[in-house]
Amino acid sequence: MRHYDYAVIGGGIFGCYAALFLAGRGASVILIEKEQFLFRKASLVNQARLHSGYHYPRSLATAAMSDEHKERFTAEHRAFVHASFEKYYAIDKYGSFTDPSQFERFCEYLKIRCERTTGHPLFNYDRLEAVYRTEEHSFDPVLLGNYYTERIMSCPSVQVFAGSQIEDACASGMSWQLSVKTGEEVRVLEAGAVINATYAATNSINSLFGLPSLALTHEISEIGFVTSRQFGNTGLTVMDGPFGSIMPYGLSGLLSLSSVAYTHHAISTNEMPVFECQVPEDKTCTPQAPGICTACPRRPVSNARKMLAQMQRYFSESVQFEYMFSFFTIKSKLQASYIDDGRPTEISMLSEKPRFYCLFAGKINSIYEVEKIFR
Ligand SMILES: Cc1cc2nc3c(=O)[nH]c(=O)nc-3n(C[C@H](O)[C@H](O)[C@H](O)COP(=O)(O)OP(=O)(O)OC[C@H]3O[C@@H](n4cnc5c(N)ncnc54)[C@H](O)[C@@H]3O)c2cc1C
Repeated sequence: MRHYDYAVIGGGIFGCYAALFLAGRGASVILIEKEQFLFRKASLVNQARLHSGYHYPRSLATAAMSDEHKERFTAEHRAFVHASFEKYYAIDKYGSFTDPSQFERFCEYLKIRCERTTGHPLFNYDRLEAVYRTEEHSFDPVLLGNYYTERIMSCPSVQVFAGSQIEDACASGMSWQLSVKTGEEVRVLEAGAVINATYAATNSINSLFGLPSLALTHEISEIGFVTSRQFGNTGLTVMDGPFGSIMPYGLSGLLSLSSVAYTHHAISTNEMPVFECQVPEDKTCTPQAPGICTACPRRPVSNARKMLAQMQRYFSESVQFEYMFSFFTIKSKLQASYIDDGRPTEISMLSEKPRFYCLFAGKINSIYEVEKIFR
């Protein structure tokens, strides 16, 4: 039976980063990914915002974590970061949880750029209480995915089992014994420690190992993609509440479109993502092992028109957007985050002998939190 120091389950950015980090420290790693390719879920389908703190005026912890890692993330992924666009944050005149003085105080505390602008020709100041020029970048999820896939595939200490799932797991002394199924083939292997980096499938993997669940909410989420000749290479995020955002999706030339009110379709408050669109005859998507929503024939009908109509109010009449297409995926959040809208990255050791770590991801540039645990 082959022995690995670590088995990392989940090939999104967090699983990939953890596997490479551990391999760099001399460990042998097996990376087990359910889909045929890495980076097909939340690490691909997101707004591509390289968070700098602005987005979380009610969660200082998330804002500070984003701010802490942004420079290193930018420096280490420079070829995949769009750092040269104008980025604005704005506060809606009606129904915001944050007001201008609170936002300015918050930015001052974090020492992040925040310059109030008036009379910008692209924006509709009848609906916007305040507009700020800020400094926030956008990473390119497609290029990032290619980069991490190439690094993982060429790393001699990391073996990848794609299209694979763990069927059975049990403790055997100080190691885990795992039965891994790839197609019809089942291989048994041993791992000194397991890292669960499966995001929407977190509780399913915890339960397979007989470990406790996290209190999560799961939402089928849509990111629309638009272009605009007038808005071009600019970003606007209106907060803090049921508003929205349009900003560059990395270096693709497209703008990602999302809205707190319409991005989310079905919501599941079960431990695992249970949705009506999952049908017994489709084994590629179950509550235990969710599939790729964009590729699913039962994906929701797009809300992009509603999102655009909502966002259009914040722009002057001359600004027009053209809708291109949408991606869908499951967004999972800690239930406790409804209080402050925080998105911490939490890594907890749920079993010591043998070791099992549950890595539940917050913001993408918080991959470095991994290093605080596996020193
Ligand atoms: C709509 C949306 C917008 C977002 N916007 C931003 C943003 O602008 N900026 C930002 O920083 N963050 C954003 N996020 C958050 C960020 O995308 C996620 O926190 C991050 O991508 C999670 O990475 P991950 O590697 O943990 O999960 P994922 O990328 O989802 O990877 C988990 C992997 O585990 C695999 N898996 C699942 N079950 C199993 C199994 N049983 N066996 C083997 N493998 C399995 C999956 O197939 C998947 O490849 C957003 C998230 C969403 C959904």
